[in-house]
Amino acid sequence: MTDGVTGRRGVIALMGAMDVEVAAIRQAICQPRLVTVLGCEITSGLLDGHPVLLAESGIGKVNASLTTAALAQAGATSLVFVGVAGGVGPGIQVGDAVVATSLVQHDVDITVFGHAPGVISGVLAGGVADSGLSDALAAGARALNATVHRGIIASGDQFITSPDRAAAIAQQFDAMAVEMEGAAVAQVCTRLGLPFAVLRWISDTADGHAETDFGQFVQKIAQLDLAVVKQLLSTR
Ligand code: SAH
Repeated sequence: MTDGVTGRRGVIALMGAMDVEVAAIRQAICQPRLVTVLGCEITSGLLDGHPVLLAESGIGKVNASLTTAALAQAGATSLVFVGVAGGVGPGIQVGDAVVATSLVQHDVDITVFGHAPGVISGVLAGGVADSGLSDALAAGARALNATVHRGIIASGDQFITSPDRAAAIAQQFDAMAVEMEGAAVAQVCTRLGLPFAVLRWISDTADGHAETDFGQFVQKIAQLDLAVVKQLLSTR
């Protein structure tokens, strides 16, 4: 029996939100083939001999949800998200890596009905990352001499640029980083039974300098993402 678009077993889907997060990975894929699934453009091919799928989701949780579903439909058997985030935990600095243990949507709020923040229909709006894939991502980032933190990542459809808001999210969800896609990926993967992991390079600290810091850091991100993905694949 074969799977989806690639016709193979054990296909890792690689995903980022912005072109800059996936550009170098896309360039490194051999025998690339473009397919469109659920309106999402997906590249399939080989990366260092491993069958992979690659997609750029676009920014935000809805785009990330649709792209995750498309990658699953295309035959992904696991999914790895690489990108940038704002650091909100103590001691987290620009250039560090955060590998998610679990992810939650910080803008899910039906607390007025007695539910905990981030919980909807009695379930955490997010999910728990696969430990094996996360270990491999953390090892890959360490091999690039990055300081690696492991903890909760909080996602919402907002670019956080306020120390007060960042501190509130950090405290409410025990979060280390904020971004705009990860918990959506986590929730969809959990619903679909797809193991996943999320690595975020810290581009800013979600404060008043975030926009400038983000703009400078994203210039470096393409090569970092490719390097960490290659490290991950080398362990498989
Ligand atoms: N420059 C882009 C918008 C980037 S939004 C444009 O003009 O279209 C920020 C992206 O980086 C999102 O994909 C998000 O996941 C991540 N990110 C980095 N720092 C963040 C922060 N402080 N708050 C929220 N998301 C952040």
